[in-house]
Amino acid sequence: MTENGFRAEEIDTSRPHPARIYDYLLGGKNNYEVDRGAGDRLAAAAPEVWSGVRANRDFLRRAVRHVVDSGIRQILDIGTGLPSSPNVHEIAREVAPDVRVAYVDNDPIVNTYANVLLRGSAATSIALADLRDPRAVLDHPEVRQVIDFEQPVALLLVAIVHFLTDAERPERVVATLRDALPAGSFLVLSHATGDFADRSAASAVYNTATATLNLRSRDRIERFFDGFTLVEPGVAEVPFWHPDAPPPTRPGEIGYYGGVGRKT
Ligand code: SAH
Repeated sequence: MTENGFRAEEIDTSRPHPARIYDYLLGGKNNYEVDRGAGDRLAAAAPEVWSGVRANRDFLRRAVRHVVDSGIRQILDIGTGLPSSPNVHEIAREVAPDVRVAYVDNDPIVNTYANVLLRGSAATSIALADLRDPRAVLDHPEVRQVIDFEQPVALLLVAIVHFLTDAERPERVVATLRDALPAGSFLVLSHATGDFADRSAASAVYNTATATLNLRSRDRIERFFDGFTLVEPGVAEVPFWHPDAPPPTRPGEIGYYGGVGRKT
């Protein structure tokens, strides 16, 4: 075991992992040579990626504050990523200290770090589960321990659905999760796009990673909100969704769309 509490041989350093590439791009330390190489190739193909991951993280922060301000007290965060301060439960509890958060990720390294850094209280849980099997996520004991599906839930799918291929039926996956949520629940979703520039070279970087990057158009991304009423301004480029200061970038610069919808 290392000081971080996991066995070194359990970490796959043969291929880049999306969670670790993202951590590298955010300036984190929980990444390996193979991830930094992929991150640098990604940035060479799409230089805006450095500001893009920040803009996505800022969207996450504003969207979590919005749903908690709207009365949400439980959050199901699928595709948590490696801990990055402030984490979802920290953002939420600044608004309301009693918010419960279930974190879900399919990368064991996220699970390990999250157990060390995010657990903290009985109101937070961490599940190792895969979005591609949404029923297993919903039925996971760690999720059930924290989330009461009789009460409104904010479902976070932030920068994760683009790791599902069309063959994995992402619309159906999201619909399965939606159908488990009561009225008054929210969906917070962001997704990478190639609408503003040819980003095929950037997505090709993920061909050697543990998940592929599937860029989608605004129309496709909007369809993930079927069954939800979009909060104004609808699906927007992430810097322009409820900015709390003038956005630091111009329209078309950041290849992520984001939106928040409420189930009625
Ligand atoms: N939501 C965070 C982190 C995004 S990085 C944020 O926006 O800041 C994407 C995360 O999704 C990674 O941690 C990766 O491990 C996870 N992920 C990718 N595919 C997944 C899947 N099929 N099931 C569960 N988690 C997945």
